[in-house]
Amino acid sequence: MRVALNILIGRGEIQRAVARLAAEIGRDYQGKAPLLVGVLKGSFVFLADLVRLLDIPVEIEFVRLSSYGAGKKTSGKIRMVPGLSAPVRGRDVLVIEDIVDSGLTTTFLLDRLRRGKPASLRLCALLDKPSRRKVAVPIDYLGFTVPDKFLVGYGLDWDEGFRHLPDICVLEEG
Ligand code: 5GP
Ligand code: MG
Repeated sequence: MRVALNILIGRGEIQRAVARLAAEIGRDYQGKAPLLVGVLKGSFVFLADLVRLLDIPVEIEFVRLSSYGAGKKTSGKIRMVPGLSAPVRGRDVLVIEDIVDSGLTTTFLLDRLRRGKPASLRLCALLDKPSRRKVAVPIDYLGFTVPDKFLVGYGLDWDEGFRHLPDICVLEEG
C-alpha cells in the first residue's frame, strides 16, 4: 500500500504547545507533586518533552491500554495491560494522553483510576479529535484540536510505524 505523509502540526508548533501546557500544569500544581500516568505507547514522546519543562516534582507511571489492534478504527473493547504499580489513593493524578478520539479509552482509564480514590484526577491530552467522540471527556489541559484524519508521528503510530517522526502528520493512503 502506498502512503503519503503531510505535516499537520510541525515540531516548532508542538514545542510551543508543550511549553504552554507545562506552564499551566506547573502553575496549577504549585506545591504539589502529582503522579503523571502516561498512556502507552502513544504518549511517550509527549510525556518525555512535557516533564522536562515542568518546574514541579512529579512521579511517572505508565499504563498500557489497547483497543486498536492493527486497524485504524477503535474496536471499543479496551484492555489494560498490566495494572498501575503505584497506588493512586490520596495522590494528585494527572493522566497524559496522546489523543482523545471516541473517548472510550480515556473514559475507561479515568473510571479505573477514580476507583483508587485519588485526591484529584485530571486529564492532559496533546490532541483532541472531537468529531468522532462517543462519550464526553473533559480535557483539563489540551494541546490542539484536530480534524478527523488519521495522524501519525510524535508518538502516534500506524501499525507500530511512524512513532519517531518529530512532526504530527496526516497519513493518507494513495
Ligand atoms: P479513543 O478510545 O478515544 O477512540 O482512542 C484513543 C486512542 O486511539 C489514542 O490514545 C490513540 O492511541 C488512538 N488514536 C486515536 N486517533 C488516532 C489517530 O489519528 N492516529 C493514531 N495513530 N492513533 C489514534
Ligand atoms: Mg493512546
